[in-house]
Amino acid sequence: MLDVILHLSKYLDGEELRPDEPLKKHSGMRCGGKAALFLRPKSVEKLLLCLEALRGKPRFVLGGGQNTLFAGDFEGGVVCTLGLKGVRRCGDRLTVNAGETLAEAAAAAQREGLGGLEAVGTVPGTFGGGICMNAGCFGSQISDLLTSVTVFDGKRIRTLAREDCAFFYRHSLFSEGECVIISGELSLRPAPPAEIADRRLAFFRLRRQIQPREGGSLGSVFKNPPGDFAGRLIEACGFRGKRFRGVQVSEKHANFLINRSGTADDVLALMARIRQAVSEKFGVDLEPEIVVVPCLGAGGSWQYAHSGLTGKWADSFLR
Ligand SMILES: Cc1cc2nc3c(=O)[nH]c(=O)nc-3n(C[C@H](O)[C@H](O)[C@H](O)COP(=O)(O)OP(=O)(O)OC[C@H]3O[C@@H](n4cnc5c(N)ncnc54)[C@H](O)[C@@H]3O)c2cc1C
Repeated sequence: MLDVILHLSKYLDGEELRPDEPLKKHSGMRCGGKAALFLRPKSVEKLLLCLEALRGKPRFVLGGGQNTLFAGDFEGGVVCTLGLKGVRRCGDRLTVNAGETLAEAAAAAQREGLGGLEAVGTVPGTFGGGICMNAGCFGSQISDLLTSVTVFDGKRIRTLAREDCAFFYRHSLFSEGECVIISGELSLRPAPPAEIADRRLAFFRLRRQIQPREGGSLGSVFKNPPGDFAGRLIEACGFRGKRFRGVQVSEKHANFLINRSGTADDVLALMARIRQAVSEKFGVDLEPEIVVVPCLGAGGSWQYAHSGLTGKWADSFLR
């Protein structure tokens, strides 16, 4: 990694390039090990330089870290896209760069008198992360509003129509990790800014009513199985409010885990317990919604500590 650091230090400043960075600063769960290299380029040109320098090495693309758990040390480069700022309007369309937060994008749409993003604008995290996860709430999801997504596919920058992005519930083509999202274009509808502001406030209030207020969480840890709610199943297994080491199942919303003083191992172990209990009681295999970035084990293989999680979900982090 030293060669990459020396090369990139010619182009990036100290804010953009940080060796040995503690990852708990960059995950909503406030735990994790260290990244050998943490990069936060401030322009698309610099982003491409970073990706090129990391070619062939382990790398993980991060947005706001609101859905990401780092299982331990990351022996590669974490490329954070938060530095890619900018919003442009063209008619009723708004192009938002990946590093804007969803709240910032919704505020920009409000200023422009463009409605539609009020609900999704209450989801924590970046616009890029929101596209990757197909973030949504209160009956709307970001893919309903997108017309296209501009990405770097490893070779070139290209723009994909929404239909080509394989969006479905909390999943997209980008979940596979090959493309880095640079920006997305939204189709919105004209509305008075005051009305948009009222709707945004109402959605923020609703969120406060139904979700815990404490920090140290990643929102819902499991996806809702078809026709049911993961929170209901977890609660029915008696987990609501239960604490395992430093991690607690929220009293308010049983699909939220709150990190009081725990480690990523504790989070993963509690997830595994919940998953097993729900499987035994209901025969339902809960699929994690959060993204877990594995750590490199002593034998050189990627590990999930005590997670007991395997298969497609576990493999999707090795990019
Ligand atoms: C309190 C709380 C409430 C939440 N409520 C909701 C909710 O109501 N609805 C909902 O959908 N989610 C919710 N979440 C989860 C989270 O906010 C969303 O998943 C959000 O979209 C994550 O954005 P992020 O930028 O933080 O993504 P990250 O956690 O940084 O990344 C998530 C995934 O996106 C990928 N990614 C990020 N940026 C890029 C990029 N530029 N290019 C390619 N891939 C990228 C990462 O590799 C990773 O796979 C909640 C989280 C919290 C903490």
